[in-house]
Amino acid sequence: MLSRDELEQRLLRFVRRDLVSSALADRVLPTTRLFEERLVDSLKILELIAFLEVVTHRKIPDAQVVLANFASIEAMAKAFSTTAESAYPAKIFENARRDRSYVDPALLIAEGAIQTGDGGLELHGSALALVEYLDGQVAQWAREIGAVEEVFADTIALKTLERAGFIKAFPQKLVRIGDDDDYALPPAVCYHHYPYLANQIVDERGSIITAIGRCVREEHDDTHPLERLRSFTMREIVAVGSAEFVEEMRADLIERVGKLIVALDLDAVIETATDPFFTSESRGRLLMQQVQPLKYELRLTVSDDGRSIAAASFNNHQDHFGKAFSIRQRGGEFAHSGCVAFGWERWILAFFAQHGTCEADWPIRIRRSHAIAS
Ligand SMILES: [Zn+2]
Repeated sequence: MLSRDELEQRLLRFVRRDLVSSALADRVLPTTRLFEERLVDSLKILELIAFLEVVTHRKIPDAQVVLANFASIEAMAKAFSTTAESAYPAKIFENARRDRSYVDPALLIAEGAIQTGDGGLELHGSALALVEYLDGQVAQWAREIGAVEEVFADTIALKTLERAGFIKAFPQKLVRIGDDDDYALPPAVCYHHYPYLANQIVDERGSIITAIGRCVREEHDDTHPLERLRSFTMREIVAVGSAEFVEEMRADLIERVGKLIVALDLDAVIETATDPFFTSESRGRLLMQQVQPLKYELRLTVSDDGRSIAAASFNNHQDHFGKAFSIRQRGGEFAHSGCVAFGWERWILAFFAQHGTCEADWPIRIRRSHAIAS
């Protein structure tokens, strides 16, 4: 195996000679941020991966094709010369509560969340109160940033899912309704919204809506069945307009979620994620998503060993849905979109695992007795 210094030297020669134009070669140093300074574009990433695989005699797994490992020659040498752990994922928020003892989520089922035949959870008592509190909070944020509340159908046209790219990307996750050729069960809330804007022109601060709905995906986790439900409740806030408008909405909500996490005293991180739900994951594209992260995830800890589950995602779709549904901005370019999605069953699970089911042990602001009294 190549030492870190050897790999760094070989990479430096390769990048200077084969990847950048000769005019730029002198600008490339081991610490130069190759992608951020736009010395190397997404097409060249594939060459870089191929080069690394040849000189290190090993296949680079997709999970390691992330910006943290490719940002500079130095970073590449560090990541691929040894079996060192990669610096990925990148955290942008952390609220660490290390002294906590966790309750096994399986024990919580009796306390207000009952598993249903369709692979979802029925909510009662404190579990229901918690969801009502959390959803009320997010619905209020949505109003504050100008979102209109919508109620969508319980089914979705297959034509819409096809146009959105969902069926091509995740055919195995689609849940059909018997042999209905026209409608299926919705895998996410925001797919309902784009058809309304199809073939229209939107303003810069075009459209922002919010909705709560039941979503269904053919997914299972036999080891942790409660953590990956087939049927679950999702609140989404969806923005369509200019790229800046979408990023503004996303950044605003990341900040609000961070404050809520602190107020609820939850052990959590918000970090970059690599599984964009609507694209085919070509490696070059995957890496470019790390340059400008398109998906952040809120992860809540559920057990003593630090295992966590994704409870919210902050997605920038760029012009994926703008193109798919022919939604344009005034200047003629395709509209950008983004959505922020909250999975309430996962919040309950993590909240109960961290704070227990006894409301007397919860942070005071969300105890029902407090809510009623105030
Ligand atoms: Zn969405």
